[in-house]
Amino acid sequence: MRLKNKVALITGGARGLGQAMAELFSDEGAKVIALDREALTYQKENVLFMECDVTHAPSCQDVVEKIVKEFGSIDVLVNNAGITRDALTHKMTDEAWQSVIDVNLTGVFNLTRYVGEWMMEQGKGSIINISSVVGTYGNIGQINYAATKGGVVSMTKTWAKEYARKGAAVRVNAIAPGYTMTDILKTVPQELLDRFAKMTMLGRLGEPKEIAYAALFLASDEASYVTGQVLGVDGGMRL
Ligand code: NDP
Repeated sequence: MRLKNKVALITGGARGLGQAMAELFSDEGAKVIALDREALTYQKENVLFMECDVTHAPSCQDVVEKIVKEFGSIDVLVNNAGITRDALTHKMTDEAWQSVIDVNLTGVFNLTRYVGEWMMEQGKGSIINISSVVGTYGNIGQINYAATKGGVVSMTKTWAKEYARKGAAVRVNAIAPGYTMTDILKTVPQELLDRFAKMTMLGRLGEPKEIAYAALFLASDEASYVTGQVLGVDGGMRL
């Protein structure tokens, strides 16, 4: 049991990668709070749903206070909630630009500012931010998404420094997944997915559990000397 007695908060925990992480963390002994806008699409022992829109700062503060009161601790935060609204730059609407910034960037800030402070007081914790290969390499039609996922990497490095002050062992890392089979890829044509698969050294797309195992490592005490890092889990993608 690699997360025995740990309390883990996962945003966007209702499905996709968030679900895979919630289920794996629970199997490894954690109490998991899955935050999302809508109810969970699955049932799992020790995975509790709490409604929270990460773009709404007061809700994030409220939920963090509730969890600390009820569970006495937050040991792991996974900033996983994310959306896409793709368009070429000249066709991108203000709404598409702003909505992706709001969820993927401000949402990460909203939770971390409350949880990070709490973890510093506690003296330890692990924060994992879900970036993307697109944050590293860029992608046509995803200027909004690429900006947020690149931003998540610089936030990770900044928080790794900020939250390690005053002797606190709060580790902050990012995972940059490659293309992984979840609903977020629903709108991507199969032809493009096949091309993405061919661009990896392993010749295939990822499975949600493969991202969850990386998160498990970073969440666990096995990663006690790992902070400020971006772990690529992408089958060796060459963009
Ligand atoms: P999914 O679309 O399957 O799941 C995303 C989850 O986030 C949904 O449950 C969604 O809820 C939730 N969410 C969206 N907006 C908010 C919000 N404002 N507040 C709370 N929850 C919200 O996507 P994935 O599981 O694939 O993606 C998870 C993360 O991984 C994202 O950050 C994504 O960018 C990243 N990623 C994914 C890759 C992939 O290929 N799958 C590759 C690289 C990175 P709702 O149903 O309400 O929208």
